[in-house]
Amino acid sequence: MNAADDGTTIPSAVARHVAGRADRVRARLDGIEALVVSDLTNVRWLTGFTGSNGYVVLTPQRLTLVTDGRYGAQAVHQMDEAQVAGEVLVGLSSAAITAHLDALTAGFETVGFEAAHVSFQQHADWARAFHTTLRPTNTIVESERRSKDDAEIALIAAACRIADRALAEVAPHLADGLTEAEVRNRLETRMRELGASGPSYDTIVASGPFNSALPHHRPDHRLLLPGDLVIIDVGALLDGYHSDMTRTFVVGEPTAEQAEVYAMVLAAQQRGLAAVGPGVAAKTVDVACRDHIGDRGRGDWFTHGTGHGVGLLIHEDPFVNATSDAVLQVGDVVTVEPGAYREGFGGIRVEDLVVVTSDGCRVLTAFAKDSPCLPSPPTT
Ligand code: ZN
Ligand code: ZN
Repeated sequence: MNAADDGTTIPSAVARHVAGRADRVRARLDGIEALVVSDLTNVRWLTGFTGSNGYVVLTPQRLTLVTDGRYGAQAVHQMDEAQVAGEVLVGLSSAAITAHLDALTAGFETVGFEAAHVSFQQHADWARAFHTTLRPTNTIVESERRSKDDAEIALIAAACRIADRALAEVAPHLADGLTEAEVRNRLETRMRELGASGPSYDTIVASGPFNSALPHHRPDHRLLLPGDLVIIDVGALLDGYHSDMTRTFVVGEPTAEQAEVYAMVLAAQQRGLAAVGPGVAAKTVDVACRDHIGDRGRGDWFTHGTGHGVGLLIHEDPFVNATSDAVLQVGDVVTVEPGAYREGFGGIRVEDLVVVTSDGCRVLTAFAKDSPCLPSPPTT
């Protein structure tokens, strides 16, 4: 079955229309006349360019992408496809690229660079070469990138549907004598067959009383056994955008303690989802989950933050944890993923990906979570 057969639509062409983003960034250039963007995710968001070497120089009138000889034609094609007005300059060495950046910024008194994405060495080289004053900036592009537009949300939702579908096909087989690594391989193969360019991160399959107690266990050759808790954390990558979902299963009948902890984590997660909305402090969502687990005497079982933003990166702003100062806004795409872990018992995590809407949130991951029992195979 291919992506088109099961209703999984891939709206990638829409998402490439990134025109207008440069003006949104220009509006944020407070006291800076031009900006050199060097973070490749920010470069991609501004231009559609996906190469491994590139800089955007943004001035009040122009957008210029500077790259090396491998990527000149690709950059022209991708900016064209993204309907971005701008030009491409190619430098055949890093010195030539620096010379282009200098020439493009030379007429401006203050030029910003991305402090978090420029190495000490690169800054030294630029400071020597540039005929202008360089000023560090922080999260200018990221602040605009954070809130997703309709096309980006459609892509992320399509990535979620691919992961939902792959898990629906693979989860019924968890009692068939597979290893963690085999489950991972099946999931990742199906996601590719369903149209994903790959997994959006290394798929986690963590089973039994010890492996599942590690929130980010790497799948190994352990066989899934009757009575195991199995955490599966899976997402698809689609045209650069990620999805992220976790479900926990029990192979066979859950014990009373497994059922109790599962119900506790699920209720905590639902409280977290209910707390999500525009204008809500991200830490409020964390507190909603954490208090529910803490009130049941298992606070020290919840050993990580509640969630994170997802987009062109699998982990990006806003982060949802106890120390976050982010306030959620419409268009934020975030996870809500409380868990409970104890060596010897195992672990349970339930994670959904949601988009913040004007009246709360819309859940993008659809795989059933009401019970940890293995699902039946899909009928279609
Ligand atoms: Zn996850
Ligand atoms: Zn996550």
